[in-house]
Amino acid sequence: MSKGALVYIIFLLVFKVSDFMVDDPTFKPYKELFERDSGVKVPELLTITFSSSTKFAGSCKFLPYVIQINPRIWYNYDTIQRLGLVYHELSHCTCFRLKHNDKLLEDGCQASIMHSKLNNSKCLKKHWKKYIAEFCLDKR
Ligand SMILES: [Zn+2]
Repeated sequence: MSKGALVYIIFLLVFKVSDFMVDDPTFKPYKELFERDSGVKVPELLTITFSSSTKFAGSCKFLPYVIQINPRIWYNYDTIQRLGLVYHELSHCTCFRLKHNDKLLEDGCQASIMHSKLNNSKCLKKHWKKYIAEFCLDKR
């Protein structure tokens, strides 16, 4: 086996091919809105892509540095649900909010954009300003 082939095999073992992802242009406007609302710059290295391999609506990984959005869920979401999902994952990945906040408000809506089940369109619309006012606060 040539040295080049060996290096290539090691490379594939260390960095699985499936982990190399290209930023999907679908998410560019969401990144821009997040930067405007949070005052936090989305790192150039962070990739956002569609992936059916995630069993969640979305996930944030650090090695490689990627947000994966489940396309089956994405296409069933309305605009505010999509925005909520991307903001939630960007909060994990850029503001390092690693824990969820599963508290509920008196009306039954999620208390934070960091709730683990953030998919209620009605609640997102009702409390969007509150969510935005609070998220990534320590990073501003
Ligand atoms: Zn989460």
